[in-house]
Amino acid sequence: MEAKYCMECGHMLEDRDIDGTIRRACPSCSFVHWGSYSIGVGALVLRENKILLVRRAQEPGKGLWTNPGGYIEQSEMIHDTIRREVLEESGVEAIVKSVVALRDQPRSIHNLYVAFEMEYIAGEPVPDLVEVDAAGFFSMQELETMNVASFTRWLVDVAFNGRTQGLTEDSYPIVPLKGYGLFRV
Ligand SMILES: [Zn+2]
Repeated sequence: MEAKYCMECGHMLEDRDIDGTIRRACPSCSFVHWGSYSIGVGALVLRENKILLVRRAQEPGKGLWTNPGGYIEQSEMIHDTIRREVLEESGVEAIVKSVVALRDQPRSIHNLYVAFEMEYIAGEPVPDLVEVDAAGFFSMQELETMNVASFTRWLVDVAFNGRTQGLTEDSYPIVPLKGYGLFRV
């Protein structure tokens, strides 16, 4: 769906050629609608060869085990966002070590998901009982009998096995994940 009105001044937008691409732009101020985007962040927190997972208490994916995460905020650094999300959802303190994977999903709101490996600092997992109703550290073996979201399964594989020399597209992921660009970093 294309943008109709200016988000800055409310004027009706027009089509404008900007460097060879037709964009929706405002004739009465400097606003250009570059696109609609959202950015998710996810945490892979390892402790003694176990990974921190939470069980979703809300749709979408209610009842599924996932890694903690959320969406970035307008005025918050992403390493602060992911640290806050982990603490809020699970009560565990962790800090960012590295980016280990990206998931790209071009659609009406183009979503990019950044997965961080996090260093465990302190705290025992306690669910927030709002977004998630269970939390814990689990081994690969324990995960086999748990209802883990497909994307989380892929991320867990990255966390335990998936180092690369740089940004590498994973064309044959260990679980079917259609419509996504998946990258190990
Ligand atoms: Zn305007």
